[in-house]
Amino acid sequence: MADYDVLVVGCGPTGLMACGELAKRGINVLGIDKKPRLDENIRTASGYCFLDQSFNNEYIKMEPAGNKTLLHYTDSGFSVEYSMPMEGIHHSHMFSDTGKHWKASTRKKPFYHLFVPNNCFKDRYAWAKKCGAKFLPETLVLRAKQTEKEVEIIARTNGKTRTLTARKLIASDGLGSRIARHLGVNRNRTPFGKGPSIEWEMNGVETPYDRGDMFFFGGKNFGGRQGALIMVPSMSGKKAYRLETLSVLPASSATELIEYFTQKGPFSSWFKHAEIIDKSAAVVDMMTPIITPYLGNVLFVGDSAAFAECLYQCATMAGYMSAVYMEEELKGKKGFEGYNEWWANHFEWIKNPKRMADYTKRVLFPRFFSVKELDFLFELSEKNPIVVDEADATPYDFTKVVMEQFIAMPEVPDALKKRMQQIIDGDMGMIATVIGQSQKA
Ligand SMILES: Cc1cc2nc3c(=O)[nH]c(=O)nc-3n(C[C@H](O)[C@H](O)[C@H](O)COP(=O)(O)OP(=O)(O)OC[C@H]3O[C@@H](n4cnc5c(N)ncnc54)[C@H](O)[C@@H]3O)c2cc1C
Repeated sequence: MADYDVLVVGCGPTGLMACGELAKRGINVLGIDKKPRLDENIRTASGYCFLDQSFNNEYIKMEPAGNKTLLHYTDSGFSVEYSMPMEGIHHSHMFSDTGKHWKASTRKKPFYHLFVPNNCFKDRYAWAKKCGAKFLPETLVLRAKQTEKEVEIIARTNGKTRTLTARKLIASDGLGSRIARHLGVNRNRTPFGKGPSIEWEMNGVETPYDRGDMFFFGGKNFGGRQGALIMVPSMSGKKAYRLETLSVLPASSATELIEYFTQKGPFSSWFKHAEIIDKSAAVVDMMTPIITPYLGNVLFVGDSAAFAECLYQCATMAGYMSAVYMEEELKGKKGFEGYNEWWANHFEWIKNPKRMADYTKRVLFPRFFSVKELDFLFELSEKNPIVVDEADATPYDFTKVVMEQFIAMPEVPDALKKRMQQIIDGDMGMIATVIGQSQKA
């Protein structure tokens, strides 16, 4: 007989939710993670969350409840409690290579809300334990193999190797999933490359601009280094921001980039009195998603099967739905097929590969134009400020919204408008060409 009904490998937002929900349903589950503490986040995450709007075919309704927030997943049919209020952000900024500024603002509905990633871990871990889930931290899963009836893993805790078995396994081990790689399911995925990111959370940042996300690009900001930096407000204070690099390998270039930006670059005066309150890092490993996210007794859930990222909000949703369908599967019904259908009906890039391209356009924005063109466009937007009641700010459609604003301006030449339309319509082929061209330049 197997040691457990279900082993959950990886206790990020996906795995913690799956563990709690499985335990709540009376299923004997063990969550395993290489991290020593499962109630803490150590991976870079900006903390933005898209609420009260449709995202990946789910509409999360936010209900402030005193010092807490309730998040109701109205399509998937469950709710989670978050132990803090969330802050709505109404401004978004970009800064070009020459320091020209673009800004968009909403009057009524925020572009998105902020949360504290660490608090999500604290909340979800405490809840999962309360539901009866068991955990094995500080344990690296080295290998998984399966027979028709069960799954076996080899794991190492403090130098000691052990074998554990279960009827089923949830692989929620994130981007670059070792389990997906070892079981061969990545063979059919197209890789798009890896990039490191490091984050400094800083307090005491003195910026003259309205509180909002700020996207910096161009060699001058980083001492000629390739890459970009996004600064997202943090709930640690009114002058607190998370600075995250979008860097190229080797990872040391990320540190050099952020050091230059905060200590020597044109915006370094903002950081004169600021202190670093937290540091984290991540490697983003981009591949096409796993179209059928199961193999035998193993279900691939969350970022392990995703294109780029599920975000906490949809990783939580995937974790919940994996538990719902796992219960069916354990009863001998076709639960994994049910999860497969749900996965395809929710994450947009499964049925429509163009949505992978749309998702990346926001961070690739500066690569679509020359410095001169960006300066022209940003100067125009300073004269015609973009202020609307509400706007779709999800990564899928933000660039389309920005381009459409520019296309509507009579001063923009037709040739530039045509290029913007091509960018709106472009798929991953166009993205690959743009990246190739900017690497040659
Ligand atoms: C730079 C950056 C910014 C981001 N900003 C945001 C944001 O603002 N908002 C947002 O919602 N999301 C953001 N995300 C995305 C978000 O972090 C992920 O989508 C989310 O964490 C996915 O959850 P997951 O549980 O599927 O995977 P992960 O969070 O990656 O969790 C995987 C877990 O598996 C464990 N693990 C991996 N391999 C093994 C192994 N072999 N043995 C044992 N344990 C293992 C890891 O330790 C980890 O705990 C950001 C990501 C990056 C990189």
